[in-house]
Amino acid sequence: MHWADVIAEDLIKKHSKHVLATGITPSGPIHIGNMREVLTTDAVYRSLIKRDADAEYIYIADDFDNLRKVYPFLPKTYEKYVGMPLSEIPCPCGKHKSYADHYLFSFLDSLKELGINPTVYRANEMYKTGMFKEAIQTALDNTDKIKEIIEKVSKRQLPKNWIPFNIRCGKCGTITNAKPVLYNYPYVEYTCGCGYEGKVDIKKGGVGKLPWRVDWPARWKILGVTYEPFGKDHGAAGGTHDTGVAIAEKIYDYKHPKYTMYEFILLKGKGAMHSSQGTALSAEEMLKMTPPEVLRFLLMNNQPNKHIQFDPGLGLLNLVDEYDQLERVYFKAEDEIKGMKDLERTYELSQPYDIPKKLPLQLPYRHLVTLIQIGTNWDDVKEILQRTDQIPKKISKEDEAHLKQRAEHTRYWLDTFAPDMVKFEVKKSLPKVNLNSDQKKFLKSFSEKAESIEWDAENIHKCIYDASEKEKIPIKTAFTSIYLIVLGQEKGPRAGFFLSNLDKEFVIKRIKEAI
Ligand SMILES: [Zn+2]
Ligand SMILES: [Zn+2]
Repeated sequence: MHWADVIAEDLIKKHSKHVLATGITPSGPIHIGNMREVLTTDAVYRSLIKRDADAEYIYIADDFDNLRKVYPFLPKTYEKYVGMPLSEIPCPCGKHKSYADHYLFSFLDSLKELGINPTVYRANEMYKTGMFKEAIQTALDNTDKIKEIIEKVSKRQLPKNWIPFNIRCGKCGTITNAKPVLYNYPYVEYTCGCGYEGKVDIKKGGVGKLPWRVDWPARWKILGVTYEPFGKDHGAAGGTHDTGVAIAEKIYDYKHPKYTMYEFILLKGKGAMHSSQGTALSAEEMLKMTPPEVLRFLLMNNQPNKHIQFDPGLGLLNLVDEYDQLERVYFKAEDEIKGMKDLERTYELSQPYDIPKKLPLQLPYRHLVTLIQIGTNWDDVKEILQRTDQIPKKISKEDEAHLKQRAEHTRYWLDTFAPDMVKFEVKKSLPKVNLNSDQKKFLKSFSEKAESIEWDAENIHKCIYDASEKEKIPIKTAFTSIYLIVLGQEKGPRAGFFLSNLDKEFVIKRIKEAI
């Protein structure tokens, strides 16, 4: 059985109503690990729905958490916002309502593309509208007990006047600098590092926040969470999950949700961590370069407790090929893949939206990578594909949308993480190259033969080999001479296929010019 179905069946035995939670602190570009969280949950959610279970998928953005420091991607002027809730800080680009929105909104758009549509909760709104009111009072009434739990489980010493509430200073707006002086329900008196002294009324929303170790179990109870996956960083012994479980049961009288502890997604290759523009790979970029069904496939095809290596270089092309192969097997156009388990469910769970009724039109992904560099956009690529009979003249709307989306992903990949060896540009005029006599001899012979052949990959390939043999010129020299005059570089994509997508007259004219 697929891992998502195993989890779903286990949940059904325990509850009749399911609330599946995921979350993030939108303090910067969202980490690729969060992809695993949202997709693991989505798989379990779909498995529950398939079994007619009453299930809800929620996503909690902890935008009431504070800015920890001025991250390298922020301007120095953000120093003044450190310690303030992310929802109260201006957005770095000026187009969003807040800092939190800036990082959250584009990620939520990505989720839609992946077919994930959770109910979104914003922590700042939850606090401000009073959803945490009772939880805060319960926490403050049980300060000693909570302190004891945290100190015992995490083996961390807490300050003497510690209370399970981070007060938001009425003057400087931070939630990290105020020290409590006295709690006398409903007031907490405090002095702040900024010099301000005041008191907050915890019956009023938004005057402070539970610290994370208490906030987490409190929200389980408030939202009735029954399942929540988390990364193994939270799951370490004495970590936030351990204290959360104890606080949920002993303070909030709530049985902690079932969970899946997932392994990290690691990036393959040292240089692969950063794009050519020098930014680390974010969850959003991971999706921009990977077709959504392929990204889902990567997660669905691996048990959550297995770490995943994501290769944003050439490995990405293999991953797409693997998915396409699975698709052919699913539609019985190809034999079973040896050793692959739960093939059907893996394919179904990989679909962002509806499961296709028949095998979608497939085109080798590497071909698209070549074509998008010959043309510049999908319309160019479509024109080449139809001219060369690689796709039918009449293509269905779904198939076109699918191929177009893939072309856009290859474009993004080429602009960011693709290795130089797959990149090229068809030069509009003859590049400045000095061909030697061998190269000229080959090109002359090739062009003479090429005039009379049908212009397709196989014929061109054969023609190159024939000319190289006839003139006794090494095949490597033959290929190099073609790449030099068309691309201005010594290497390029597979020559037969590549040239077949260019206009025949253009190629022959270029050769004549060069010799
Ligand atoms: Zn913005
Ligand atoms: Zn202050």
